[in-house]
Amino acid sequence: MERLTHKARYEAGYKLNKGVKEWQAADRLGAYENTGLTPQEIMELKERDTAKAPIDVDEDYGFFTCPSCGEAIYASDDFESHKFCLNCGQRIKWEE
Ligand SMILES: [Zn+2]
Repeated sequence: MERLTHKARYEAGYKLNKGVKEWQAADRLGAYENTGLTPQEIMELKERDTAKAPIDVDEDYGFFTCPSCGEAIYASDDFESHKFCLNCGQRIKWEE
């Protein structure tokens, strides 16, 4: 996604990039507002959806824990069946 703004150098906040029209920035802001989420909530969802490797507790028995919340994740031979932590929703990245 191409940014429409940049951090203002000597001021708090952001300024429109050169050539960006106010209506373009308003359209983008409106789209964000339509999500009903705060920037912090969006960042948390992004982090949760970024696949992280599980912590290997005992690979022989297929026992792993979630890298985000620490809850147990049992992995059978079919790793594809556990794409997300059932406790916190963290996306899990299994070795291939
Ligand atoms: Zn978890």
